[in-house]
Amino acid sequence: PPILYWMRRDLRLADNPALSAAIATGAPVIPVFVLDPETEAQGAAPLWRLGLSIAQIAKDLETKGSRLILRKGNALDALKTLAAETGAKTVMWNRLYDPVARTRDTDVKDGLRQAGLDASSHNGHLLFEPWTVETGKGSFYKVYTPYWKAVRDRDPGAALPEPSVIPAPEVWPSSELLASWDLGRAMGRGADVVSAHVTVGEAAARARLDAFIDGRVDRYNSARDMLAEDGTSRLSENLTYGEISTRTAYLAGRAALERGDTQAETFLKELVWREFAYHLVYHTPRITTENWRPEWDQFGWQTDGPQAESWRRAQTGLPVVDAGLREMYVTGYMHNRARMLVASYLTKHLLTHWKIGEAWFADCLIDWDPASNAMGWQWAAGSGPDASPYFRVFNPETQAEKFDPKGHYRRRWIAEQDPNPQPTALSYFEAIPESWNMNVRDGYPLRPLIDTSEGRVRALEAYTALKSG
Ligand code: FAD
Repeated sequence: PPILYWMRRDLRLADNPALSAAIATGAPVIPVFVLDPETEAQGAAPLWRLGLSIAQIAKDLETKGSRLILRKGNALDALKTLAAETGAKTVMWNRLYDPVARTRDTDVKDGLRQAGLDASSHNGHLLFEPWTVETGKGSFYKVYTPYWKAVRDRDPGAALPEPSVIPAPEVWPSSELLASWDLGRAMGRGADVVSAHVTVGEAAARARLDAFIDGRVDRYNSARDMLAEDGTSRLSENLTYGEISTRTAYLAGRAALERGDTQAETFLKELVWREFAYHLVYHTPRITTENWRPEWDQFGWQTDGPQAESWRRAQTGLPVVDAGLREMYVTGYMHNRARMLVASYLTKHLLTHWKIGEAWFADCLIDWDPASNAMGWQWAAGSGPDASPYFRVFNPETQAEKFDPKGHYRRRWIAEQDPNPQPTALSYFEAIPESWNMNVRDGYPLRPLIDTSEGRVRALEAYTALKSG
């Protein structure tokens, strides 16, 4: 009987443990992607981008004599139905660690076993699975640096080769049409505007990694914080859909380090931040929805309202903040330094709950990742485990001077203040929905939503009130 290989965030052929294990059985393999309610509940941009990834892996599978079967519905039901149709007795997949996926996957595993089917899961998403890293006291890590020290000398193992052929069943089961899923339907912004900025699929991800390792990793430390520079790998978009394995990226970084590119170590550390995010999410799943530090429940957060809406629309009146938000709206990506700035501005200057920002990122980012996004927001707000100290309120103006000294990043994204606006900056106005009723000719907000130093003082007062109960 054939093996069902259930694909999720592992849309690649190389270094894919579940796929390799399925092939190793010698049985025909039926790759399947299920559009279940959990997957469909994702934000607009990641769901749209997922569709591009599915289309590409379907093509890649065909080059190996295989196919991708698409089914929609509850994952357990869809897999059981497909097993009944094909005579499959075993379902294999690569594990996920966020609470939504874990709840679903546990149900699927139990349900399959009750139906007399075998389920086997593998590690294809991480270097080091969350339960394999423990403190001396047998607990989990809450702070990054000791976590990094605990894993940096570990061997993540060798990457598995891309299979040369994937054994096919004699008869293929039916598949739904990807177009019928209409995964881009919630993209209020023109998907065509964002399309110009995506890099889809395994081959493109591999090329992106190679270009970074060969051309940029040797100056990563200094370039990665500069807003206008292309100083980072941009692999987050591919890692989140598993178009490349994190192990492939990590091993490439290690090889560069061994060759003498000392700054490659910082790249390894960043990949381990992603591991750490999954470590936290696994051990404290509430990090995705609740203040990691419960005392923050008493903090005087503002709720959603006109100020948060101005922030979402990138109309805060602070060019560096608005530039970051516009970059995200147009490209689905935002520079890491800008992510920190816009998150600090929302949670500290505007005293707005981090969950409002987390949700907006989850709707707009093509690299949306449930663990990294939650950790990033709680870090910025101060409510997380390894949080930035609350008294460290980023000053957007000094940050802009430091990380965008010539203003190139701001010019790239803000059209209104520019006599000769750049196409990128103008494209924001093509991307936004008509209902926002915003026009480049309306001009840029004359004043920021809140005065920078006034906002800082207000944030510190709110924090002092929290501390003193
Ligand atoms: P590089 O600098 O090339 O780093 C290589 C890889 O390391 C990244 O692709 C990513 O997988 C990992 N990495 C780097 N920095 C971090 C970090 N701080 N936390 C976790 N992993 C990291 N990253 C996401 O992938 N998805 C998100 O939804 C997300 N939301 C964020 C929200 C906030 C508020 C903040 C402050 C950060 C968030 N990040 C998120 C982390 C980080 O900004 C991005 O991973 C990074 O900008 C991606 O660009 P890159 O691939 O060029 O990174």
